Amino acid sequence: MIDSLIVPPGTRRPLAKRRTDEDFGWDKEPTKAETTEVMAKVAELHNVLFAEEQRSVLVVVQAMDAAGKDGVVRTLLTGLNPGGIEVTGFGVPSAAEMAHDYLWRVHQALPSRGRIGVFNRSHYEDVLVVRVRGFKPPAVWKKRYAHIRNFEQMLVDEGTTVVKLFLHIGLDEQRLRLQDRIDDPAEQWKFRKGDLDDRALWPEYMKAYEDALHETSTADAPWYVIPADRKWVRNRCVAEVLHDTLKRMKPAYPKPEEGIEGLIVQ
Ligand code: ATP
Repeated sequence: MIDSLIVPPGTRRPLAKRRTDEDFGWDKEPTKAETTEVMAKVAELHNVLFAEEQRSVLVVVQAMDAAGKDGVVRTLLTGLNPGGIEVTGFGVPSAAEMAHDYLWRVHQALPSRGRIGVFNRSHYEDVLVVRVRGFKPPAVWKKRYAHIRNFEQMLVDEGTTVVKLFLHIGLDEQRLRLQDRIDDPAEQWKFRKGDLDDRALWPEYMKAYEDALHETSTADAPWYVIPADRKWVRNRCVAEVLHDTLKRMKPAYPKPEEGIEGLIVQ
């Protein structure tokens, strides 16, 4: 299942050809229980990674509005030691951020050794919204794919495992979720009128996402396309990807201090 989510390096597959309502033949309730179990295994591996304190994991979460970025962040945190997690959201850059290159704010937010960092939006906004809204000309944003590949490769080489998740929601499911946000007083705070402007630019965003996935999915820093119309499918996929990633890292407890064998605590 995980292999089918990966964007193989160098390939270009239209997002329209990937189902947003994929359910892999799973049933809802057992799948939710399975997600909880997988996250318990993630928590165990995370504890060892934290103790090892040599390597880190960066999970980048990107999506159109209402695709469930916040829900995925919640899933990724389920049962994990909060001390070993760093979540960062990236909104419209501040004046100080604008006064630097676009990777400046990202670099500062990276997880330290032993920790898992989750980015709710990321440096990819600089080849997505910046491109679609025309904040920078093509001559500027086109060069960024290479910057991003090199930047992420540097992170990998220096001990950060990079995993990138695109939550793939359908246009119709987004309409339902945005309408719910407008109609439900407890959800209205999540809605901005600007969300409708982005929705109107859907084809342009899909093109920008396709290009970004194609240009920046590498063997060391792969993109995964997560079917996101069903929240329980989305959450299980995300949990499985994180579990698979941590398993492959094979974290190990550090050697205990010498001479503690047989010590008796008085
Ligand atoms: P979300 O929609 O992610 O739940 P939100 O609506 O609460 O979040 P923020 O997190 O404050 O808002 O900001 C998100 C907005 O910031 C998005 O519209 C996004 O496109 C925009 N944004 C993020 N990075 C950049 C960037 N580098 N340049 C311009 N706009 C950006």
